[in-house]
Amino acid sequence: MTMISKIAVLGAMECEVEEVKRYLTNLQEQVYKDLKIFTGNINNKFIILSQTGIGKVNAALNCQYIIDTFTPDVIINIGVAGGIGKGLKVGDIVIGNSLIQHDFDVSVLGYAKGYMFTGADKDKPTKYFSDKNIADKFKSSLLNTVKENKIYEGIIATGDQFVSDKKLKEEINKTFNALAVEMEGAAIAQVATRNKIPFLVTRVISDLADGTTAEYQNVFEKETSQILAEAIKKVLADL
Ligand code: SAH
Repeated sequence: MTMISKIAVLGAMECEVEEVKRYLTNLQEQVYKDLKIFTGNINNKFIILSQTGIGKVNAALNCQYIIDTFTPDVIINIGVAGGIGKGLKVGDIVIGNSLIQHDFDVSVLGYAKGYMFTGADKDKPTKYFSDKNIADKFKSSLLNTVKENKIYEGIIATGDQFVSDKKLKEEINKTFNALAVEMEGAAIAQVATRNKIPFLVTRVISDLADGTTAEYQNVFEKETSQILAEAIKKVLADL
């Protein structure tokens, strides 16, 4: 890979973006239509930080705008997510090695759930893969701030739905073998892939997607976002 100098960091919500913004020097703010975009530096890297808004369409359009305007070398999607894999707890970090869209469903036509008319195998959900090199670097840098047993690697499932139901959580986990569920990652992964830009999706668990912690989600959003921002800052400087 060529030298990485420009990194786009995308988060859906204000609290996710704010926690990273604190680490930027030479901070500048730009507004395009209703998109909030911050630029600045971490070490000698140029960081484009943007609040995409919640959901796949918001994430996709923001990501494409950032690509066309700033031509980033790498795209990193951060944020909170519901933990659906076995043993996951609030505050754990999931590195999304691959991303699927759990609500893309043309199964009635004989395709696998999550199959998006790309990929040779219609019996499998379409997967978008995070860049392995970036994921590995992030993992080793994470070990400086987070205990190893709080770091998970695997599939993240995206859909336009807040999952807060035990049955649905189990179904998504079983169908896609996913560890976490959220609402933007696979949209950003799809846009990045189509633009041939390496990406990483990583999430911190804010709730367990079963109704037990949903009511606390607003509280955990902020403190878990801090954990992830602290971790991501280190790898942004070193990529
Ligand atoms: N708390 C906010 C709304 C959050 S929507 C409010 O009340 O205004 C959920 C956001 O967090 C999305 O950006 C999504 O990516 C992520 N998320 C966290 N837990 C999730 C879950 N259980 N299901 C789906 N998305 C989840």
